[in-house]
Amino acid sequence: MEYVEHVVDLVGNTPLVKLNSVTEGAAPLVLAKVEYLNPGGSVKDRIALRMVEAAEASGELKPGGTIVEPTSGNTGVGLALVAQRRGYKCVFVCPDKVSEDKRNVLKAYGAEVVVCPTAVAPEHPDSYYNVSDRLVREIPDAWKPDQYSNPQNPLSHYHSTGPEIWRQTEGRITHFVAGVGTGGTISGTGRYLKEVSGGKVKIIGADPEGSVYSGGTGRPYLVEGVGEDFWPDAYDRDICDEIVAVSDADSFAVTRRLAREEGLLVGGSCGMAAAAAMKIAKSCGPDDVVVVLLPDGGRGYLSKVFNDQWMSSYGFLPPDSSGATVGDVL
Ligand code: PMP
Repeated sequence: MEYVEHVVDLVGNTPLVKLNSVTEGAAPLVLAKVEYLNPGGSVKDRIALRMVEAAEASGELKPGGTIVEPTSGNTGVGLALVAQRRGYKCVFVCPDKVSEDKRNVLKAYGAEVVVCPTAVAPEHPDSYYNVSDRLVREIPDAWKPDQYSNPQNPLSHYHSTGPEIWRQTEGRITHFVAGVGTGGTISGTGRYLKEVSGGKVKIIGADPEGSVYSGGTGRPYLVEGVGEDFWPDAYDRDICDEIVAVSDADSFAVTRRLAREEGLLVGGSCGMAAAAAMKIAKSCGPDDVVVVLLPDGGRGYLSKVFNDQWMSSYGFLPPDSSGATVGDVL
């Protein structure tokens, strides 16, 4: 019989899928590392597993303890999944702007969700940073992974994502492209690929226009999960050979094309990374192999990037276009 002991055993070893249509006319092979095929639906399952294992080993996380993290999304799902398997409780703190659907996903896995007001300054006692710190102090045996500063975040990619890509491409990868949020993915995967290739693999970070990584100040942008207004410890500033800034409009246009033309229903940061990969591919030759990491699936964004009204309200669709086709109308 072929089965795994638990769904957590399926974290990692995601496939590479060739991009065909969105990269048409480009010389190199462009491959997508499809992270929504992790059991929690995103790349963050990898860091959740490694952060928990390391905290168990160091004694920071005690048997039956509670994981407390300010997160509303993918990292929470990964942590909740691992916590359930290993007998920990989870308390996630998120701002009230986070949709009810997202909170319900975390609750469905058995986590407790504490909601904080968005409209208060970070130093306010009710801000989501302060509430999570207070909960860590008040809950017995509480442990806060802190993905922004936890070295296990980049290390999880150094030990899993990087080696997988090297093996899957039989060492032929020449360019690695990924969006930068905490910086864990690009720093860990990038460091491994640089070391194993003797510095030959080029590492390209994709960043929303306005974020610090591409020289901005943190100006608001709509793509979720990537870009920052500060420099996290998880980001290694020496890893990227190039940073490509991508507009919201381009990120969302490519996200829609990935679903419609490649059958990949993925999130907005995937479109952003793929847009950067398409740009890089234009300057590559036929022997190059470009790998772009797609962090999560598109189901969490149905009311945004895949909603014509939402897209039009930000001017991302022509005003007279409902996005409907004849087929839709009939
Ligand atoms: N895309 C999405 C949807 C994410 O949630 C994240 C994580 N914040 C990223 C991209 C960026 O990954 P990393 O934090 O490893 O830089």
